Amino acid sequence: MRCKEAAQHLQLYIDNRLTLEQTRALEAHIASCAACVEELTLLEKVASNLQTFKVVAEPEDLNEQIMRRVAMAASQRSAPAPRYSLLRPSLLEILVAVLLATIATLGSILQQPSLRALLPFVKGNGTLSLWVSASP
Ligand SMILES: [Zn+2]
Repeated sequence: MRCKEAAQHLQLYIDNRLTLEQTRALEAHIASCAACVEELTLLEKVASNLQTFKVVAEPEDLNEQIMRRVAMAASQRSAPAPRYSLLRPSLLEILVAVLLATIATLGSILQQPSLRALLPFVKGNGTLSLWVSASP
């Protein structure tokens, strides 16, 4: 047996999948070949190390943990949103602002007789024009 053939049989030898004849031939080669003994020792070490690996059991609430973390990540992502709502006034706030601006403009116009004369509704005898004339 040559080293190349022996190397192909080493793993099968460790796994006990060689025939009696193959096993004898390999053992005869190994007995006289230091390189293949080294190779066999290495493969046996790897095999024994693999056997000591333990299967890690997943925790029973793994699904729950994942969902909780997903929810946390999602809420952290949506958290900064309220910061911008300060800059975004609601419809009511806009209406109040417009109303106040209109009252202020109207008030300053009505304070000045020259501007008041330009307003069409002041010229008649309506209740509004009377109220406007009565005001200082
Ligand atoms: Zn050899």
